[in-house]
Amino acid sequence: MDDVHVAGAHADGSGLGPNLAELASDPAALRAALESADAGTLLLVLVQFTGDLDLLARAKPFISGPLNYHETMPETLRSEIRDRLSAVLTDYAQRRIPLPPIPAGEMLRAMLSTAAGEDVAQDYTAMMREDLEPAEIDPRGMAWRNPPDPAQLERFPVVIIGGGMSGLCAAIRIKQAGLPFTIIEKNQSVGGSWYENFYPGCGVDTPNHFYSYSFFLNHDWSHFFAKRDELWAYFERAADQFGIRDHIQFGTEVVSATWSDSNSDWHVRLRRTDGSQYQIRAKAVISAVGVLNRPKLPDIPGRETFAGTALHTAAWDSTFDWRGKRVGMIGTGASGQQVGPTLAPDVARLTIFQRSPHWVVPNPNYFAEVADGMKWALAHIPYFARWYRFQLFWAFADGLHAALKVDPEWADGGRSINAINARHREFMVRYLRGKLGEGSPLIDKVTPGYPPYGKRILIDNNWFEMLKRDNVDLETGRIARIVPDGIETESGEHIALDAIIYATGFQASKVLAPMTITGVGGKDLHQFWGPDDATAYLGTMVPGFPNFFMLMGPNTGLAHGGNVIFITECQVRYILSALREVIERGAQAADVKPAVFDAHIAQVDALHAGMVWTHKGLTNWYRNDQGRVFALLPYRLVDYWQMTRTFSPEEYTIT
Ligand code: NAP
Repeated sequence: MDDVHVAGAHADGSGLGPNLAELASDPAALRAALESADAGTLLLVLVQFTGDLDLLARAKPFISGPLNYHETMPETLRSEIRDRLSAVLTDYAQRRIPLPPIPAGEMLRAMLSTAAGEDVAQDYTAMMREDLEPAEIDPRGMAWRNPPDPAQLERFPVVIIGGGMSGLCAAIRIKQAGLPFTIIEKNQSVGGSWYENFYPGCGVDTPNHFYSYSFFLNHDWSHFFAKRDELWAYFERAADQFGIRDHIQFGTEVVSATWSDSNSDWHVRLRRTDGSQYQIRAKAVISAVGVLNRPKLPDIPGRETFAGTALHTAAWDSTFDWRGKRVGMIGTGASGQQVGPTLAPDVARLTIFQRSPHWVVPNPNYFAEVADGMKWALAHIPYFARWYRFQLFWAFADGLHAALKVDPEWADGGRSINAINARHREFMVRYLRGKLGEGSPLIDKVTPGYPPYGKRILIDNNWFEMLKRDNVDLETGRIARIVPDGIETESGEHIALDAIIYATGFQASKVLAPMTITGVGGKDLHQFWGPDDATAYLGTMVPGFPNFFMLMGPNTGLAHGGNVIFITECQVRYILSALREVIERGAQAADVKPAVFDAHIAQVDALHAGMVWTHKGLTNWYRNDQGRVFALLPYRLVDYWQMTRTFSPEEYTIT
């Protein structure tokens, strides 16, 4: 009999580990991994193997949240979990028993609820079951129902605009489906945001073991929250591993895409870096251009007059040496929070210009390295990486959704929006006060007046520690103007500077700019949208633009947590299902019906009206000048997963 080969995890990142014989042949490594791995995650694996719901019930009282069981779970119980799991895995290996299946129904729900530290609703079980499946089963991949002949596939070329995280994801799936495709990438490398952003301290604030493709897990992340180089390398590896690189035209931009009514295809006009232009044709176009890629410089008088170094976080100059300089930084969002603390120890003086404070939360793993034992467990212990992903999912995604919804009865003077939100606020205020020290004059300056999650929540990157430094000033007065040698505030203060860093964000509302997209009958997409008001059915399709799909399109962003890769995978599956429907019917194109589109947008807007982002007086980049939230998803991730899980042909005109 062959070894019980559960998955080629080293090769495909499935998370199920190599064959069990190898696992059992290294008892010392297994023991070490069990010691350093999370007991809560091990518990879930053990229960999957044994079906021991009594053990689950015994552990439950010690698990109050998805990642904080280790504080209260008694050592005796932890030892019991480790010992039993060690024995079970060894037994499976020695007797070569096939691995147990992913639990289902009430058992799965009981496990999810115990892991989350709260009741996990029924509608999560199908989604989480899918996420627990190994990569070789790959339930988010698309399978043909009536496989078309290769010649038919050849006649259906797809153009993907952008080779970042979402473009690569689409390309991998399109390739698996056997469709010809080309990625048009303006840069000389893949990776999108993770290629373009390399400011000091740049990194992710969604944990990596969750922020990764479900079909390409990485068990070797050096840190729980990786920095930019490691993330970029991950996407480079994905491009190579799935054979995408040969399909990419680097250094090329899409100027326009125009639908041809007569041919039922898209004419895509491209511009190379040397300015020369040419055109290619595609049956479908997938825009994967991202949202946060056009830096926004503030409209401050005198900006052009500054004589020192001026740079935007997303257009960093690698030759800029900040050591010993007087540096001003405008902006305190996610980018600023990473740059500031990284530069502060080396500059002569750092002046931070804060227009409004952001809410900041701690995360004990933010700077932590992943221990070797944990890496081993992720790679070798069957299902461990998958259960760990669920814990992260709950801690960083839908678990927070209830804190975002306005309780109309809640009266807190605008400081919070419901009881949960108020509890989170108390926690965050306690945290920042603790960091700054009671009586610190900084406390008033950095405590937001708006409810938590109104702007993007930030993980503490030593922000408060930085503010306490002698060489750091927090300037909360309004900037009046920029002058050749510094910045002047409205109160008349002149701050002399050698360099200004603009951590002022992106032109997020200019969706798909500067491309021109022309649909059926010459319909212009930007005219249809109107100024800064992008809309799309499921954030993906607009009526009158057949076979034109958007990834990370309008109203698919996540601001409280979550994982944009998850959303992208949902969208890519949906797009592939749409293409399958068209191709298997022998049709040409799918165009979403206007009534379906209108109903969806109305629902999105109605939901947003009751969420924290439309809180009165609050500013954030999620809304346009009319106050409409164009950027964010109002749904729970599980809702969006459900909405995109199947393609409904009746919602489309298929021609
Ligand atoms: P951002 O969140 O839009 O923050 C821009 C900052 O600049 C805000 O503090 C804003 O103040 C300030 N600002 C803008 N114009 C100004 C002006 N004229 N005068 C003074 N201050 C001004 O931009 P970001 O920090 O680059 O982040 C954008 C998004 O990128 C994030 O929300 C996140 O989605 C993503 N990101 C993620 C990470 C990560 O994963 N760790 C890191 C970086 C970026 P107001 O708040 O008052 O508008």
